[in-house]
Amino acid sequence: MRKDISCLGEFGIIDLFKQKDIKAHDWVMAGMGDDCAVLDLGLNICLVVTTDMLAEGSHFDLKWISTRQLGYRCLMVNLSDIAAMGAVPKAFFLSMGLPKFWDEQGLLGFRDGLFDCAARYDLNLLGGDTIAVQERAVFSLTLLGRSTKDCLVYRSGAQPGDRIMVAGSLGDSAGGLYLLQKQFYRLGDEDCANLTNAHLRPAAQLELGRMLAAQRFAKAMIDLSDGLVQDLGHICARSRVGAIVDADLVPVSKSLRALADCAGLDPLDFALHGGEDYVLCFCVPPELETRVIQTCRTQLQIEITKVGEIVAGSGVKVRQGGAWRKIAHEGFNHFGITKRYR
Ligand code: ADP
Ligand code: MG
Repeated sequence: MRKDISCLGEFGIIDLFKQKDIKAHDWVMAGMGDDCAVLDLGLNICLVVTTDMLAEGSHFDLKWISTRQLGYRCLMVNLSDIAAMGAVPKAFFLSMGLPKFWDEQGLLGFRDGLFDCAARYDLNLLGGDTIAVQERAVFSLTLLGRSTKDCLVYRSGAQPGDRIMVAGSLGDSAGGLYLLQKQFYRLGDEDCANLTNAHLRPAAQLELGRMLAAQRFAKAMIDLSDGLVQDLGHICARSRVGAIVDADLVPVSKSLRALADCAGLDPLDFALHGGEDYVLCFCVPPELETRVIQTCRTQLQIEITKVGEIVAGSGVKVRQGGAWRKIAHEGFNHFGITKRYR
């Protein structure tokens, strides 16, 4: 019987493409299932590779994002995956599917935004591919970075007792998207600007990722692109552990609270399940907790917050006021259903 692929969910679909019969080469340190693939080049040097795609209609709508902002964002979301490994970005490839009716000025805007981000991180554009598509634009970026072999952080290193930390407030980007999509502007200008900026101009936490890796502070790390609960679930699956998040500890900004109050929504729905924050989430051994918080504060002026603990078992549970919070859905999934891959 014919079945739509949507019943598989995004991760079920990815699972279909895991090579069951072909063994990974010795130089593959990480492949599918981490934020980046890692290839061992020898002499303690690793090549780190990630690819991400932004599609019109699914990821952006030109009604509320300029092409310049889009270009910047397109590179930045890939940089966030490099940050999650603790690596240093170096160069990228760009593939574009463009409708023939796209406006030239719009494309130049995209290029300028992209190059703005590339200049900021000293990244070379090395190649790509360009095709015409029927209706909606799609941009795919592949980013290359490097790291020393002994300084990388994977999703797989978490152990029971580790503290779960996040580097910044959660849910602002989803709040910003809500404002943009609903054209909901009953909020003060400053709160509106804070939330929409979080969505339109995220900043990958490259320095932080590098420091956490170099100082061996983080045992497992991921960038939050699909919401805390879902992305922490990836750390749990790869590390074969469970996690308990304490909802009362989850950092929520004043602006997101204002939006939630104004719109009659629960800010934690945004903070736990909203996507595209591009904030790092990482696991720290209990004896390092205070030192890591202090070092982030003094060296990088970044406030990190403990939101829970790794436990034996599997999956992510959220505790709220002495009870378990019901999790209706985990986070963003392109095909609607969240299904875990292993
Ligand atoms: P991220 O949010 O960090 O970009 P994703 O959730 O998009 O990661 O992807 C999860 C993992 O599955 C990644 O390791 C990614 O490389 C891999 N993956 C996604 N799509 C495919 C595909 N079509 N073929 C092979 N691997 C894929
Ligand atoms: Mg990622």
